[in-house]
Amino acid sequence: MIDGHGRKINYLRISVTDRCNFRCQYCMPENITFMPKNKLMDYTEIALLADRFIHHGINKIRLTGGEPLVRRDIELLIKQLGQYVENGKLEELTLTTNGSRLRQYSKMLYANNVRRINISLDTLCAAKFKTLTKGGDLENVLDGINIAKATGLHIKINMVALKGQNEDEITAMAHYCATHGFDLALIETMPLGNDIEHRTDNYIALKDFIAPLQSQYNIDPIAYKSSGPAHYFLVRGLNLKLGLITPLSQNFCDDCNRLRLTTDGKLFMCLGSDMYVDFKQALVIGGIQKVDKLLQKALKLKPERHYFEDQMSDNNLSVNRNMNVTGG
Ligand code: SAM
Ligand code: SF4
Repeated sequence: MIDGHGRKINYLRISVTDRCNFRCQYCMPENITFMPKNKLMDYTEIALLADRFIHHGINKIRLTGGEPLVRRDIELLIKQLGQYVENGKLEELTLTTNGSRLRQYSKMLYANNVRRINISLDTLCAAKFKTLTKGGDLENVLDGINIAKATGLHIKINMVALKGQNEDEITAMAHYCATHGFDLALIETMPLGNDIEHRTDNYIALKDFIAPLQSQYNIDPIAYKSSGPAHYFLVRGLNLKLGLITPLSQNFCDDCNRLRLTTDGKLFMCLGSDMYVDFKQALVIGGIQKVDKLLQKALKLKPERHYFEDQMSDNNLSVNRNMNVTGG
């Protein structure tokens, strides 16, 4: 699939729920109203859409949310999608999770052909973790991570860089990841949603965030590329693969390969735009043929880039969705 700007699109992120057992302050407000359950796609609808997208050229799928592992019977969907890896139609099925349910689900993920997962972890301090996630239990998450590792899942830790909150932890996090053989991806906080606490004042450019690590170790660019937007580096001395995701300080839209399907069936062609195509409605009313046609239109409409820099500096410009709707 090629979009209207000549980019090859092969990666679909599916948000399977907007619900979550955490309330990370940069992601959603504490008193959030979730989508009504009758608006959500069921697993048959999600799998049917995934099948059409795969047919047209998607070869990587990431499940996200909200927290994907809190959706009831999620193993049914993972089992169905895992079969596309088995029969070679998908190169990879992955997941982004907050880690809170990995104690229960790691074996199920591995058994269904998931081999790599991203786990969000912004701090290694239990009290700070509780504050940042509004109630999360760090020990439970670290236990879950250990079980995922023991199960054989390859782990990348996602750490959102938060000025004044976890700036002092980059070196500790790098050591933690290096000790366990995990990769580490740092993410600049993005101005999504209208009702987020510290929407802009927590932003810090990654070049500044990694300065303490850089003062101790040589950090060199490497050729490695994952399917996402990170640019990779090797932290010499720790042998740590470090990914930098810099939507604000260094735009990466030129080689964007992604589409994002929400749990109510809307396809967002860009994280930074409110434009969507309603694939649930298309499927219900027009069936597979309508879905196939609409996908070609959606590709044409994929925006060239986001405008997070402008949204960061002016609260009147905003993307309406919180991150838990589209996922990452
Ligand atoms: N609940 C899962 C988790 O936390 O990993 C998956 C969904 S979460 C929305 C996906 C990723 O988005 C997480 O790594 C999270 O840290 C990141 N995220 C959420 N809000 C963000 C924001 N405003 N800016 C940058 N990253 C954000
Ligand atoms: Fe939940 Fe993930 Fe959002 Fe945190 S970042 S509130 S864990 S969806």
